[in-house]
Amino acid sequence: MKGIYSHSKISTFEQCPYKYKLQYIDKIKPDLKNTIEAFMGGIVHETFEKFYKDKNLGLSPTREELLKFFEESWVKQFTKDIHFAKEYMTEENYKAIGKRFVVDYYERFKNQKIKVVALETEETMALPDGNEWHVRIDKLCADSKGNYYVCDYKTSSRKKSQEEADKDRQLGMYSIWVKDKYKDAKSVKLVWHMLAFNEDVFSERTDEQIDAHRKEVVEVIKQIDKATQENNFPANPSALCNYCLFQNICPSFQGN
Ligand code: SF4
Repeated sequence: MKGIYSHSKISTFEQCPYKYKLQYIDKIKPDLKNTIEAFMGGIVHETFEKFYKDKNLGLSPTREELLKFFEESWVKQFTKDIHFAKEYMTEENYKAIGKRFVVDYYERFKNQKIKVVALETEETMALPDGNEWHVRIDKLCADSKGNYYVCDYKTSSRKKSQEEADKDRQLGMYSIWVKDKYKDAKSVKLVWHMLAFNEDVFSERTDEQIDAHRKEVVEVIKQIDKATQENNFPANPSALCNYCLFQNICPSFQGN
């Protein structure tokens, strides 16, 4: 059966097929609602979205206004069932990290004039096998020379390398959608905003590399179809189990 796939969906299958089954086939609602890392990242995303929406309206949001928005969103959405894999870290620690991301990003981009074309997209594009691919771009910008910038906010404390950016499938797939939708695009640059380091990593794809990303995605979807037909979703315990929301019901959970 054809369906809609996304970067996070096929990455979940690659990480642990059993987790994929629990999440996407059985659709189990876990007791743990979210990880604190994902929660903090979500509030940071919402804050940056507000920043650009205000700017697009001709407003000039201040640093204090953004921090107030961050704080209020945090308080409104934080729940006690958010999972802390690092027990030595507190809610206040993560909130402070998120606020630092907001301040650093604001200072770096408050005067940037580039046009923001789209925020937090909810689009799909067709894959060659008849399935659809979910296109969720954090921020899409374009300059007057026809250069488009697919920007992804990274809240991880681990610094990602240029090599990783050059191979990243998520950004590579999004460049297909941009080239198809924006016919004036002369180039599509892929940008990771590494918020913990207050710096960016840039990358770009050739047509051959884009084709390779597309083939890889179709191949993983084939593996998912096969696993579904055979009902064969083996658990793949790893260090990532500590961040898995199904750890309370998984017999293969391997905590640290
Ligand atoms: S706890 Fe580990 S093995 Fe179990 S579903 Fe989650 S990631 Fe897979």
